[in-house]
Amino acid sequence: MLDKRQFYIDGMWTDPEAGRDFEVINPSTEEPCAVISLGGALDVDDAVAAARDALQWWAPMPPDERIGYIERILEEYQARAEDMAQAISLEMGAPIDMARAQQVGAGTGHIKNFIRAAKNFQFERMLGEHAPNDRILYEPVGVCALITPWNWPMNQITLKVIAALSAGCTMVLKPSEIAPLSAHLFAEIIDRADVPQGVFNLVNGDGAGVGTRLSGHPYVNMVSFTGSARAGVAISKNAADTLKRVHLELGGKGANLIFADADEKAVKRGVIHCFNNTGQSCNAPTRMLVERSIYDDAVEIARDTAERTQVGPADQSGRHIGPLVSQAQFDKVQGLIQKGMDEGARLIAGGLGRPKGVNRGYFVRPTVFADVQNDMTIAQEEIFGPVLSMIPFDSEDEAVAIANDTPYGLTNYVQSTDGARRNRVARRLRSGMVEMNGQPRGAGSPFGGVKASGNGREGGVWGIEDFLEVKAVSGWGEDA
Ligand code: NAD
Repeated sequence: MLDKRQFYIDGMWTDPEAGRDFEVINPSTEEPCAVISLGGALDVDDAVAAARDALQWWAPMPPDERIGYIERILEEYQARAEDMAQAISLEMGAPIDMARAQQVGAGTGHIKNFIRAAKNFQFERMLGEHAPNDRILYEPVGVCALITPWNWPMNQITLKVIAALSAGCTMVLKPSEIAPLSAHLFAEIIDRADVPQGVFNLVNGDGAGVGTRLSGHPYVNMVSFTGSARAGVAISKNAADTLKRVHLELGGKGANLIFADADEKAVKRGVIHCFNNTGQSCNAPTRMLVERSIYDDAVEIARDTAERTQVGPADQSGRHIGPLVSQAQFDKVQGLIQKGMDEGARLIAGGLGRPKGVNRGYFVRPTVFADVQNDMTIAQEEIFGPVLSMIPFDSEDEAVAIANDTPYGLTNYVQSTDGARRNRVARRLRSGMVEMNGQPRGAGSPFGGVKASGNGREGGVWGIEDFLEVKAVSGWGEDA
């Protein structure tokens, strides 16, 4: 079993001051695969103190020098790509090929995009020609607590750490205790890249312990959090006493609006997208809204696609989906499938229990419900499993109304060959992102939501701005 009990504080691997052992479980086998430490207040205080010291010279460092460190991180990250894929696959169950391409690949993409965005970022700007002696200065927020979930570990960690480094912030990362192995490796990468001591610190722990200490810490200036709405609320409340900035990236219940004139692959593509990462994505298109004239055909395609979806262990090569991350997640998904049946949705594929022949690991059956009403629990709650809800609609207005009738507002999707309709619908959807006709958002595009999906924007220029304060200065003189 791997021993990953140390934390990375002030440029050194250190033993916890107040640690408790915690086993990391391989979700494909239900066996422990590593042990970490859950830290306490003293560990957080040490890490925050180191970040606070480092801020004094990291914040004023010329941006180009900071970019130099990030370029070294990119080199080290690429050199350790296979180790990273193995770590993610082991800790959270992403099938190894998917872990290599998507999980690790997301991190590579973000680091590159931030380098590009940071090189072009103007940290000092004119207000305008009407005010020649005014300057707008973009300055780092300060010491940041970065709290991340387990479902896309390197996606989340690079979105926060690299943006904060670019902005001139120093930081304490608390990754998910359920999937901490990739974060441990990431700290090794930071170390190998010679990022100066104290700029980046890693403390493992749970939400109640390290998470709460960080969000309430008087010397932490900002919390950047990705995770559940429940924890987002708790963090916001706890951070309020010290008036720190809180950026939240929370859950979603994305609608995929499929009009009768959509391309013929739209339904299959939507099902596959919903099941990707075993449905454990905040931006998964989990509600498929289908125009009634093609609804029956769409239900058949969805059934067929779900039945063809293979489920298998994470260390096996191939295009299958892996297990859910944990027993808790398995139980939650089972409970929601049961709820869907109890509330009268029509189960057309999958259902309760593990796939045939599987009796170990948190594997679930790719599941599709048809004839879902949008007020059913399975249409309102984030399930975080491979469970699709299909809902028919009769008009564009009705489709938009159903899509917007959710507490969340992260990503919605539109499928139609009518460009004017796509644009019209995109403007009316209440979400931070809209993706249409299967086209992914471009490199460096901002990721984030509205309503219960949060308030932050991660990635590219917007991701860097999230970690900056804006200072307005008048009477600006000539620089010597
Ligand atoms: P979670 O909220 O249980 O945990 C996320 C992180 O917060 C973990 O590190 C956890 O230890 C910590 N935490 C929990 N309670 C805390 C508290 N009270 N104070 C401080 N920290 C606390 O979420 P999860 O189960 O790890 O992740 C799944 C959730 O994350 C889903 O809801 C998903 O939609 C969301 N998510 C959102 C995005 C996005 O960008 N919008 C991306 C990925 C995941």
